[in-house]
Amino acid sequence: MQLRVGQIVADTEAEGPGRRFAVWTQGCTLRCEGCCNPHLFTDRGGALLEVDALLARIPPQVEGLSVLGGEPFEQPEAVAALCEGAHRRGLSVMVFSGFTLAELHARGAPLGHVDLLVDGRYVAAQPDTSRRWVGSTNQQVHFLTERGRADAPRFSAPNTVEIRLTREGLSVNGWPQASGVVKRW
Ligand code: SF4
Repeated sequence: MQLRVGQIVADTEAEGPGRRFAVWTQGCTLRCEGCCNPHLFTDRGGALLEVDALLARIPPQVEGLSVLGGEPFEQPEAVAALCEGAHRRGLSVMVFSGFTLAELHARGAPLGHVDLLVDGRYVAAQPDTSRRWVGSTNQQVHFLTERGRADAPRFSAPNTVEIRLTREGLSVNGWPQASGVVKRW
């Protein structure tokens, strides 16, 4: 099973509760105005990676997997396999989707291994500065499991941005996100 990936940050504290392995999927047809990741729109960019190989790269110190986009559920089978693999390793799973939860249900999206879901298009005219990891006020946080509900208090902390200087160059992630991030395979 392969997933088209635009970016990976192996250990981040800016993409969900605690230290997390973050994967940005490549490809999004929703194309919200003001999206900070337009380089992830095309489904011909990034790299096709084996889900098992991705899972093998998760460092032992992280507590969760975060899947961002791009639009993760435009690759539903591979994202489901990634989320299931993370749960098998005892990690929590957080997914950011431009589809609403109702749309995901209508599409039959695989949510069985998702603890936390942030849903909905990004609406640049409605920025949300009060909730952590949420881009605009229309977006909702869904605590889909007990594990997700346990994370709820951590959503009221201030947002963070991480800047790394790596061998490949400058890497920026967090909220508000910045584009131009380094691709690390
Ligand atoms: S759904 Fe996400 S990645 Fe896609 S255009 Fe909207 S903000 Fe950008």
